[in-house]
Amino acid sequence: MRANTRLFMVDFSNTEIAFKSKSDGDLRRAWFLFKTVANPSFVEFGKGLVSLSLKLKLPVKWLIRKTVFNQFCGGVDIDDCKPVINQMHQFGVMSILDYSAEGNESEADFDKTVAITLETIRFGNVNKSVPLSVFKPTGVGRFALYEKVNSGEPLSTDEQAEWDRVRDRFYKIVKTAYDVNASVMVDAEESWIQAAIDELVRELMMAYNKERAVVYNTLQMYRWDRLQYLKDSFDHAAEHGYYLGVKLVRGAYMEKERARAVDKGYIDPIQLDKAATDSDYNDALDFVMARLDKMRLVAGTHNDESSRFLMQLLEKHNIAPSDRRVFFSQLFGMSDHLSFNLAAAGYNVVKYLPFGPVAEVMPYLFRRAEENTSVAGQTGRELALITKEIQRRRNAR
Ligand SMILES: Cc1cc2nc3c(=O)[nH]c(=O)nc-3n(C[C@H](O)[C@H](O)[C@H](O)COP(=O)(O)OP(=O)(O)OC[C@H]3O[C@@H](n4cnc5c(N)ncnc54)[C@H](O)[C@@H]3O)c2cc1C
Repeated sequence: MRANTRLFMVDFSNTEIAFKSKSDGDLRRAWFLFKTVANPSFVEFGKGLVSLSLKLKLPVKWLIRKTVFNQFCGGVDIDDCKPVINQMHQFGVMSILDYSAEGNESEADFDKTVAITLETIRFGNVNKSVPLSVFKPTGVGRFALYEKVNSGEPLSTDEQAEWDRVRDRFYKIVKTAYDVNASVMVDAEESWIQAAIDELVRELMMAYNKERAVVYNTLQMYRWDRLQYLKDSFDHAAEHGYYLGVKLVRGAYMEKERARAVDKGYIDPIQLDKAATDSDYNDALDFVMARLDKMRLVAGTHNDESSRFLMQLLEKHNIAPSDRRVFFSQLFGMSDHLSFNLAAAGYNVVKYLPFGPVAEVMPYLFRRAEENTSVAGQTGRELALITKEIQRRRNAR
């Protein structure tokens, strides 16, 4: 099939393809959930109630599991995720196992994250359905320590030893990916710890990305400095002879970033408006796609226009949709209209599949709930698509 025929064939409003992997019960649950999180006061109230119930050890885990957890998570551990991974893979959609336990700050917790991330890498090595792995920097080190390293302040002897352990954890994960011929992405976090992460990931790329992109960094295009950073990173990679792997996202911490900038009186690192973020996101896609001989791309987005623009770029550069240098990526439980329609047309699609013990993934789930409340249009769109599919199935009976 010629690429341009394919481009016109993909219809993001095709809900039959989008929700093929979902039962009627799944759809009803999703409808109910998106309807609920659309109400900000309910989300606030629900957060308080769930946190309190978990603290008091009330038996609410089963309810969480049956509702919000099953919508946005694959399971409590890798084994538990297998049915979801296999089900999505039947429709060509791949998974990234994302260990999402958050808020744990002990050395034992950080080592546990490393051990579990290594398991996801090894699992991916023997399962075609899991082509990439990921980890969050604050899963392997203390936030306050990244912040101190980021600020350039000198570390105490103990802190230096602690930072060395964080570095060792990054190295262990990336070296394992290198050894088993896998790739691993590093998530991006708040701007006041990001430079420390960027520097470490660059060092790892110099060490491990000489033959292929083993490690990918994440760039948040809601920051006005990231397009230039992308260009500078490319120059650096070209100068030092390594592959630059990037996951491009818009960014998840906008409100927090703006509030801190006002509070501390520095220039807001976030773009002036949504249009500027959108424009830089698409410019970044364009930049990477013109340099695919030396770059690798994961486009982490739920935005229809950016997804369509990336399809156009693949066509413009005469690159097959199935070319493994480019992945489209969405979060499990969201934007199936993109994931499943793209996969049905032969594009590489990989969904983040968060997993972890119910209580420990709650911060992740609260973020999803808040995002679906605050991102204008996202919830409305999910609801409209789910409603359309429920109706279509009714009519088809
Ligand atoms: C696979 C995947 C991986 C991800 N990994 C990360 C990660 O590592 N780090 C991270 O921070 N996020 C990550 N995200 C979340 C991502 O950053 C976005 O928050 C989310 O995907 C919404 O953006 P969108 O591209 O889907 O598009 P849209 O829904 O069109 O855009 C919403 C986004 O636009 C930006 N925006 C909204 N209003 C404004 C405004 N007034 N001014 C400027 N910008 C604005 C914000 O970033 C907002 O989240 C990831 C998302 C996916 C799908």
